[in-house]
Amino acid sequence: MSSNNKQFKLVLVLSGILVLLGTITLSTPALWNRTSLHKSDPRHFVAPKQTHTPALTQIPITTSRSLHAPVLGYPLFNGNTHLPEIALTFDDGPNPYYSPQILAILQHYGVKATFFDVGYLVADYPNTVRQEYNQGNIVGNHSWSHPEMTLLSAQAILSQLTSTTRAIQAVIGVRPTFFRPPYGALNSIVLAQAKYLGYTTVMWDGSAEDWIVPGVSVIANRILSYAHNGAILLLHDGGGNRAQTVAALPIIITTLKNRGFKFVTIQQLVDDLVAPSSQSANSNAQDSTTVSPVAATV
Ligand code: ZN
Repeated sequence: MSSNNKQFKLVLVLSGILVLLGTITLSTPALWNRTSLHKSDPRHFVAPKQTHTPALTQIPITTSRSLHAPVLGYPLFNGNTHLPEIALTFDDGPNPYYSPQILAILQHYGVKATFFDVGYLVADYPNTVRQEYNQGNIVGNHSWSHPEMTLLSAQAILSQLTSTTRAIQAVIGVRPTFFRPPYGALNSIVLAQAKYLGYTTVMWDGSAEDWIVPGVSVIANRILSYAHNGAILLLHDGGGNRAQTVAALPIIITTLKNRGFKFVTIQQLVDDLVAPSSQSANSNAQDSTTVSPVAATV
């Protein structure tokens, strides 16, 4: 009996150590720093005064075609590195002033992109979200109120994700399946909760850092320097003055088109990861993502 108790305690202690190791592994900057995360400066986003989430039972989550999409158990940093395609992503909208300008540019150049929208803004500006979706872009989940998710309880993480799911689905009729954590703040708990709700977590491997408002040419040149096969590039359509981002976008699009890149949504990027015609490309793309530590702990 006493021996059993000792064994039980040992198992408990070991389990605790494993959980701690998992958290530390995912939080270690060295493992995440291959991207230019803007976690260090939260000033690019102005949080709402009220951060409460609506009642989770207000709108039922219904089955949609996107529910059948495969959910990746690791954060996606880039797509197939053997295909000349790039995913432009815009965070922190919808913004009633800048998002339509960005949408007009995308429309003009026949480009599809991905918008990671903040839930309470989706509720405030549904027409902008509808326009994003109707133009063929993907609308993703960027939490309800843009908190650092790694500081929240598991329940609060679920609430942030679920409230935004319902807000987006209420507007476009489709359940979102891609999630980007605010500030790029991610650990095993956030990743697991997102996966549990059917979300693939999407990071990036090149950021304009346009939230600093560094100037049009800096934004354009920074993005152009990060461009490569399968790149996921981060810009912002909300969270502050985005006039420079709007001005840089035509330069980015025309230059990359001239270099032979095709612009795709995150959905297309994921579909092309597992394209049957590119067996070797797929394995290489897998190798080029920071998947190992995460896949092993989730
Ligand atoms: Zn953000």
